[in-house]
Amino acid sequence: MDKDKQKTVAIIGAGLVGSLAANIMANRGYRVELFEKRQDIRKMKVAKGRSINLALSNRARVALRIIGLEDEVLKASTPMKGRLIHDVNGNTKSVPYDSINGQCLYSISRNFLNKLLIQEMENKSDIKINFNCKLVDADFTDQKITFLNIEKSEHFSLNPDFVIAADGAHSVIRRVMQHRCKINYSQTFIDHGYIELTLDSNHGHLMVPNHLHIWPRGTFMMIALPNLDGSWTVTLFMPFEKFNALKTSDKLLSFFNTTFPDFLALTTSSQLIKDFFRKQPLPLISVKCEPYHQKRFLLIGDAAHAMVPFYGQGMNAGFEDCSILSNLLDRHCDNVDLVFERFTELRRKDVFAICDLAMYNYEEMRDLVTKTSYRLRKSVDET
Ligand code: FAD
Repeated sequence: MDKDKQKTVAIIGAGLVGSLAANIMANRGYRVELFEKRQDIRKMKVAKGRSINLALSNRARVALRIIGLEDEVLKASTPMKGRLIHDVNGNTKSVPYDSINGQCLYSISRNFLNKLLIQEMENKSDIKINFNCKLVDADFTDQKITFLNIEKSEHFSLNPDFVIAADGAHSVIRRVMQHRCKINYSQTFIDHGYIELTLDSNHGHLMVPNHLHIWPRGTFMMIALPNLDGSWTVTLFMPFEKFNALKTSDKLLSFFNTTFPDFLALTTSSQLIKDFFRKQPLPLISVKCEPYHQKRFLLIGDAAHAMVPFYGQGMNAGFEDCSILSNLLDRHCDNVDLVFERFTELRRKDVFAICDLAMYNYEEMRDLVTKTSYRLRKSVDET
């Protein structure tokens, strides 16, 4: 792109999706100003995040390929060939994701991936990353965005050529759109929350490798995803009222003893108690809105479509937003106004569908995986 005509895109949020979008836009020849309210996660001792690791699918692989990072990410991840279902007696059953072509999901560290995407920007002179800068307002008519520099306690504004908002499920840009524009919006908090437990590498080698483990228990479930160091990140999803009933260590151990005895045998009681009582269970939100654009502003990632995590597709769908955006810019010769309109048209149906599927898949994972499918039952009955 001719430097004099080079357009500036402001990207809000240096999470997974904003960082990927910044790399893609810089590769296309845009000048990128990236704003993140937190400090640089590469300098943080423990970066706060929602889940320690994530299941990465083909949607994300396609997007990472655009910036040449697919192989590096896969090398740092653990393939999961299928689900390993644990019943209440500790019996297990492996259910492959794809027994024909061997496709699988990959478990990747959220921190590693986010840091890698940020590090990748350091090699690009056209990207400026502004940490500790919180977006506080947006004017869609004047194309103006206003920030608070958290360290200096100062406000500042700028007028980029266009804005990509990847500022997460509680997006400020989306909130401003809701107040000032015609945008449809709905959000749902489900009655279930989650806590993360750990199975350290000393005990993790006893788990069957290369699987996403599930302990389905009807109205709730526990899952475990592998980490590269041999440890596992274990997530318990349950109704809040059930969490609230487990007030003491004795009650917790007795609950695990009857509900997840094989897991309790793998870990230590002290580790379980420490993990469980460390934090309150976290809530789960699903957000739908449309359109995703307003003049020269576009919502992507969780800002456009936060979903419950049961389909493991939140980040994957956000990465897919980035590859679709890139394809549309190709197809429409970087005519941004047209591209943003087309993005909304193209994305609406798929995004709504994946939010619904994510909600449905909780029932599938916590309950239906243990049952014979209707079709199979029917064919058995007919023989
Ligand atoms: P975020 O990760 O929320 O990033 C937004 C960024 O914007 C943050 O860095 C934030 O600090 C910054 N920001 C926010 N407001 C402002 C502001 N005003 N100004 C400047 N910066 C701002 N997805 C999968 O694909 N696979 C999985 O296996 C999976 N597992 C999950 C498990 C759990 C328990 C949960 C809760 C989610 C899971 N997800 C999974 C979903 C995934 O975490 C999200 O979809 C993904 O993180 C969305 O990325 P994002 O960049 O859009 O938003």
